[in-house]
Amino acid sequence: WAAKSNNGNYAFYDESIREQLQNDVKIETLLRTAIDNMELSLLYQPQHDTKTGKIIGLEALVRWNNDEIGQVSPFVFIPIAERLGLIDQIGRWVMLEACKQNKKWQKLGLPKIPVSVNLSPIQFKNRRLVDDIKSILQECGLEGKYLGVEITENALVEDIKDINKKLSSLKDMGIKISIDDFGTGYSSLRYLRDLNLDVIKIDREFIKDYPEKDDGSITKIILNLARELGYKTVSEGVETQEQLDFVNLNGGDVIQGYFFSPPVSPERIEEILTKQNEG
Ligand code: C2E
Ligand code: MG
Ligand code: MG
Ligand code: MG
Repeated sequence: WAAKSNNGNYAFYDESIREQLQNDVKIETLLRTAIDNMELSLLYQPQHDTKTGKIIGLEALVRWNNDEIGQVSPFVFIPIAERLGLIDQIGRWVMLEACKQNKKWQKLGLPKIPVSVNLSPIQFKNRRLVDDIKSILQECGLEGKYLGVEITENALVEDIKDINKKLSSLKDMGIKISIDDFGTGYSSLRYLRDLNLDVIKIDREFIKDYPEKDDGSITKIILNLARELGYKTVSEGVETQEQLDFVNLNGGDVIQGYFFSPPVSPERIEEILTKQNEG
């Protein structure tokens, strides 16, 4: 490493930046071939009715496991995929896989429930999105009402008319639209009024410290806001009975969190749904 400065700290700093860059280049290179090498998979996290505890939906969450670098979190590789222009390809793979899997569960005679898929803002902006989804549903023979999409607030910065056109096309197919991580992006109350959305997913941020370091007032306010405006809610990241009771008391419809279940394999979902079917 050429830059042997007299200042040891400075050289050390350079070294760690270089390592970081090499690390990033490595991840980028490996990510390009992840789909072809079948290194991506999906886990599914159950969404439970707050009152009955029954599973009423699932969220598909992508996983990347590479022999050389191991398991990489979507928090790390999704932004890289967006930057490298790989997100449309990965997103289509996720959507197809989730729809195929849901159809498989249905064919096994399990209760029919929707599976939600996360859409990157870049995917949402893609002109081909609606056609892509249509052909995936057709290919799988899955009804649109058993698919949901989750978009973040950051996808909603285009012209309201354009966004609503896209949302309407999706809703015409029966697809439910959730606004993900609500309260953490460029939140605007205007789009809650003007856009054709179905579900508000309240970010884990607003429940995770309840009740020790957070009295839950933001969660409470969002739940009230959702009810006033006619939205269903999913409360993300509920881990304790106390948090569940709080959401229930304040009228939250659905809970998704470790209290009920972390994201699990499709095989595990099959077992859980089978039990629910029998019980
Ligand atoms: P998200 O869509 O908000 O998904 C919820 C995340 O919270 C998941 O993390 C889930 O495992 C985690 N979670 C759920 N309940 C709890 C809880 O009680 N406690 C804690 N500590 N965590 C909980 P995951 O699977 O690591 O995904 C992270 C993010 O990566 C997702 O956040 C989403 O933004 C993105 N992502 C995942 N899969 C996809 C995908 O297929 N496409 C796109 N574009 N993004 C994805
Ligand atoms: Mg999500
Ligand atoms: Mg979320
Ligand atoms: Mg979140």
